[in-house]
Amino acid sequence: MTLPADLTLMTAAEARSLLDNREISSVELTRAYLERIEEVEPAIHSYLHVMTDVALTQASDADRRIEEGDIDLLTGVPIALKDILCTIDAPTTAASKILEGYVSPYDARVVARLRDQGAVFLGKTNTDEFAMGSSTENSAYGQTHNPWDTSRVPGGSSGGSAAAIAAREAPVSLGSDTGGSVRQPAGFCGIVGLKPTYGRVSRYGLLPFASSLDQIGPFARTVEDAAIVLRSIAGKDPMDSTSVPVEVPDYLANLRQDLNGVRIGFAPQYTVSGMEPGVEAAVKVAIKQLEDLGAEIVEVSLPHTEYALATYYITAPAEASANLARYDGVRYGNRVEGDNLIDTYLQTRGRGFGPEVKRRIMLGTHALSSGYYDAYYVKAQKVRTLIKQDFDVAFQSCDVIVAPTSPTIAFEAGSRTSDPYQMYLADIFTIPANMAGIPGISVPCGFSDGMPVGLQFLGRAFDESRLLGVAHAYEQAAGWYHKLPEIPAT
Ligand code: GLN
Repeated sequence: MTLPADLTLMTAAEARSLLDNREISSVELTRAYLERIEEVEPAIHSYLHVMTDVALTQASDADRRIEEGDIDLLTGVPIALKDILCTIDAPTTAASKILEGYVSPYDARVVARLRDQGAVFLGKTNTDEFAMGSSTENSAYGQTHNPWDTSRVPGGSSGGSAAAIAAREAPVSLGSDTGGSVRQPAGFCGIVGLKPTYGRVSRYGLLPFASSLDQIGPFARTVEDAAIVLRSIAGKDPMDSTSVPVEVPDYLANLRQDLNGVRIGFAPQYTVSGMEPGVEAAVKVAIKQLEDLGAEIVEVSLPHTEYALATYYITAPAEASANLARYDGVRYGNRVEGDNLIDTYLQTRGRGFGPEVKRRIMLGTHALSSGYYDAYYVKAQKVRTLIKQDFDVAFQSCDVIVAPTSPTIAFEAGSRTSDPYQMYLADIFTIPANMAGIPGISVPCGFSDGMPVGLQFLGRAFDESRLLGVAHAYEQAAGWYHKLPEIPAT
């Protein structure tokens, strides 16, 4: 390939081949991203912490490794990390005041895997506090702006990781998806975002939000790059008992160009009233393209989808209220000294957590309290089983399911902050996959009102290969990934 004028225009796969052929060095590539970050951060604010010195050291180490022929998939390739993943050489705050300045004594497993491979850490990206939100406006350190229109949100909670890719501040990044936080911001920012199967990627060192739902997943400009990152981070980890010892296939070998013989399901429940007409139209065109590529479109039914959001807002806050009990000022993060122990807890948590986190803790504690436990928590678990069974039945007649990623395009900043229910609705199409534990990917499928629209594919558990294969075939034929936003000068 010919060397582009700006190295940040390349995908990770393209960078890999130039690095391997010694046409560029990792230090040059890293510097190009660090310069780009400096240029666009005032307008976007993807990063909470840029790891300049770490990145340049890792890059020169990577160059040495490449010289010696010790090359892994991401050796010398820069990557950005959601600031909810523990890193030993940069703060990990979950965008919360309670963890301001906190540095973890260990790396998250995914971080350690990338470090061992010789990947280059550009920095820690912005998120809604403890990953609770859909717009990155719940960060205690300022909001992130959508690179396509800076008056709009990038989605969330992994909005910093998504915006960084769209703004070419990193070629690939990691986020976490509990109810849609990788796929929804990927859709809003016009890039690729993948939530792997529950159990595919170790969550060791991921600050937990809702442990039965959380998964770590990659953002990238192309499906191929997402496949590269997934291959690099997936696999059983003895430190996370929910990670599953199944083989990690060579996802790159299974990317395909056509869809002959593939059955793609579409469920009527994934068209809801109040959906943006431009989103509906773009998804319709995409489904026609899938047919043209050889896929057979079959109608499937997911009748319990309409209860997914309500079920999620019992389950996720219940787990969050338990997980966040550890932030009491004794062992982690910041402490506000009170008159006695209880007062110290109250002051620490009262001042350390933002309003949305407090709302979730209250919702969850209520749902788990005696007298309400059966009515809320147990009932939600039963509905969750029904949601999962819907998918099991649907996948008997199709190989993947296609759906919009979100009912709307990225909304204006501030337009939903005073109405939590409107904010929660942004995840209506992404939450069912978390409830069922299945993988999902969002790829760009056009524009509405000048803003990107995301197309979502859902697959069977541990069938990321097919998901990536189908998404790649669509992406290559549709070609939307060539489009990049112009960031206004600040
Ligand atoms: N927006 C959803 C929430 O606020 C999902 C967040 C996520 O996936 N981390 O809970």
